[in-house]
Amino acid sequence: MMKIWENVKYGLPVKGVRIIDAHGHCGDYSEFYNPRKGSPETIVQLLDNMGVECCVLSPNVGFKNDHIRGNIMMAEAVKKFPGRIYGYICLNPIYMDDMVSEIQKYENNPGFLGIKYHISINKTPFTSPKYAPAFEYANEKGMVILMHTYGADALASLAPAADKYKNIKFIAAHSEVGIENVERIAEVVNSRDNFYVDTALAGASEGSIETLVKYVDTKKILYGTDIAFYSPNFTFGRIVMADIDDEVKLDILGRNAEKLFNI
Ligand SMILES: [Zn+2]
Repeated sequence: MMKIWENVKYGLPVKGVRIIDAHGHCGDYSEFYNPRKGSPETIVQLLDNMGVECCVLSPNVGFKNDHIRGNIMMAEAVKKFPGRIYGYICLNPIYMDDMVSEIQKYENNPGFLGIKYHISINKTPFTSPKYAPAFEYANEKGMVILMHTYGADALASLAPAADKYKNIKFIAAHSEVGIENVERIAEVVNSRDNFYVDTALAGASEGSIETLVKYVDTKKILYGTDIAFYSPNFTFGRIVMADIDDEVKLDILGRNAEKLFNI
């Protein structure tokens, strides 16, 4: 069988492998230059270039300005590219009163696969009671929640919520930040059935994927790139070309997300 990286070294998309990008963003962003503005068309073109089947996105405008408008934009993108673009329902704990109603608007739309919170932008720690209404509801429904975490401390601060709401499947983002603390990250992830991590990162230490795979349960690691907030090619390359077993690459690139999202 052809190795996963063999097409890539000739600049061709990966073939015959199901790849699901579990962490991306769409739309323009106010804090740095994003020349193609993360349009759905741009994102599908980027997926095609790499041989990626689909991605799960959240709308940038949803974190910064208006999560209700962001979710409407996300629904339009999902409708335009079914099976290629999926969405997270973007919620803001600052506006806790409409969290459940926003979930209810989209929970039966097959294009939405979970909920996304951005703790850094919305400046509300996971221990805040403001999350409770959404967590209670998501727990009843067994939903997936992608949480922006950045470093082992932030990742570990999500553990009490994962222990309290056992039917929510939490994804902690950017798990290779602070890879020197990988044993702590592994302890949190490996001891909880409902705790996953993703690989989204715009800059990473050499060998960080290999280190993550060495310590963290490889069935709990999801391919994520921050497409098209940052270029997805960087993380795509460092996973496809990583010095790890092809079976593990298949799990990270698609099989784990396929099971988690049931797609
Ligand atoms: Zn992100």
